[in-house]
Amino acid sequence: MSNHPEPVQAKLQALRKAFLSQLPGRVAEIETKWTALREGWDAGQAAGLAQLLHTLAGTAGTFGLAALRTVAKEWEGELKAALAAAAPPVSRPGGDRMAALKAACGETGGPPPAAPSVGAPPPVLETPARGDGTDHGDAQGGDTVFLVEDDPLLAESLALQVRCYGYRVATFTTLAALEEALLDATPLLIIMDMTFPEGNLAGAEMVTCLQQGRGATIPVVFVSGRSDFEARLGAVRAGGAAYLTKPVDVGKLVAQLDILTEKRPRDPYRILVVDDEPLLAAHHAAILEQAGMAAATVTDPRQVLGRLAEFRPELILMDIYMPACNGMELAGVIRQDESYVDIPIVFLSAEQDLSRQLLAMSRGGDDFLTKPIQPAHLIASVSLRADRHRVLRSFMLFDGLTGLLNHTRTKEQVEIEVARASRSKSPLTFALLDIDHFKSVNDTHGHPVGDQVLKSLSRLLRQRLRVTDVVGRFGGEEFAVILPNTGAEAGAGVLNGLREDFGKIRHLGRDGGFGVTFSCGVAAYAEGQTGADLIAAADALLYQAKRGGRNRVVLAPGG
Ligand code: GH3
Ligand code: MG
Ligand code: MG
Repeated sequence: MSNHPEPVQAKLQALRKAFLSQLPGRVAEIETKWTALREGWDAGQAAGLAQLLHTLAGTAGTFGLAALRTVAKEWEGELKAALAAAAPPVSRPGGDRMAALKAACGETGGPPPAAPSVGAPPPVLETPARGDGTDHGDAQGGDTVFLVEDDPLLAESLALQVRCYGYRVATFTTLAALEEALLDATPLLIIMDMTFPEGNLAGAEMVTCLQQGRGATIPVVFVSGRSDFEARLGAVRAGGAAYLTKPVDVGKLVAQLDILTEKRPRDPYRILVVDDEPLLAAHHAAILEQAGMAAATVTDPRQVLGRLAEFRPELILMDIYMPACNGMELAGVIRQDESYVDIPIVFLSAEQDLSRQLLAMSRGGDDFLTKPIQPAHLIASVSLRADRHRVLRSFMLFDGLTGLLNHTRTKEQVEIEVARASRSKSPLTFALLDIDHFKSVNDTHGHPVGDQVLKSLSRLLRQRLRVTDVVGRFGGEEFAVILPNTGAEAGAGVLNGLREDFGKIRHLGRDGGFGVTFSCGVAAYAEGQTGADLIAAADALLYQAKRGGRNRVVLAPGG
């Protein structure tokens, strides 16, 4: 597959260029204010200058101008301290801030700062909610993330990246524009800057205002150049759900968006109720179902093993006194099968005697509840245990870093899907992805940054594939994707789209953003193949993709 020109990559480059060309204007504005201040200290002017420096620091960091960010941030801090002390800053022996700022502009390859005093006007970027190919909904407002950031370039750069993860994003560069938009739309979530020309905490104040008088609160994520306590507290008081500092780690931001907008509803807990008294079994099952759980009942202990296999409960609620065998014996039988050793068994019995209760627990039970039980108590005990079981199990089945299926589980799933495809004569596609030159990402930016890249790829895969598709972490920087009911051509198309979008994401490294690509081999299931055959086929194609120059998807000829 050919490498198309990357439109988002190009746009990000263009934004960076626009920033660099605005830089002389910004620096000139700062110099004018600074010169005036040196002639006569004025608190209002100083606050204005601090605001300019604050914005410059946030944007410079995002566009990879680390030195400039540092100087601007330090100078801003100095002005703020002076403002708090109501006195002009003491002059520094090592030269003045203005010179340092200009030098930092030069270091980053930007145009010399002594250029025109009037920078190009910033582009108008107030965009209404609009669809582009990667958005994931149609309605206005309800499925759109509002991004409020007073620097238009930073706003657009962030929006471009967040859109890569399938979010629809509308940007606002003024609080007034946000207010107006909120009159007739409720966004899915708001990403909010903290400092605006209106004030140091204007973002938080705005959020407090806008949440009042609304039926349901809108989740808000603050993104700010400030990392001080006052700003963080302001965010908490405004009800902010998260607080991220600039330069923004887009991976972290999107992780927050995923959690707060929770696109995938949780599966209900599956509970098996075992009781020889049918009415009682049905009664307890009904209580659990009312609380949103899925309950199945068994009244004959001899049918438990069969039911376990098909229903795969996450907890068993078990009576103790039953005619064919008692609950403790039944627990023993269940525990003989090693795939059921970890399933919680909660005894529900009229037994009041503590020593007999303890005996029951020693035989493989996890908890003991006494009949009759309050519905609320039953629901709480069962759901807490089921939840804990789910969490513990997830550590065994899922990769800790990415939350994807681990290697063993992925291979099992390939076998399951191969069996299904063979039975139903439906197509099946399997792909292996490997990040290109990942070792150098680690070497250049450090292991934690490498981890972030892995997380961002896994998130992109999960977000963009269907719920029925399976994504696993197959090795260190290798991922597997199973696409049931999908032909090879279509599957390769999907993966190529993902490859293009992944390449557009800017990851945050030592000195600003960097891009990463992956190579991919796509194999189609052929009659008679085993899961291992299918994996080997994809692996060979992945190898071809690497040899062919990387950053590409290779499909078997005629596949
Ligand atoms: P190629 O394009 O040929 O795939 O080159 P590569 O550098 O990606 O491949 P190589 O197999 O040489 O290096 C893989 C690197 O991935 C080496 C290893 O340290 C790193 N890695 C594996 N697992 C993790 C992880 O969990 N976190 C991080 N940060 N790095 C990992
Ligand atoms: Mg690699
Ligand atoms: Mg590798």
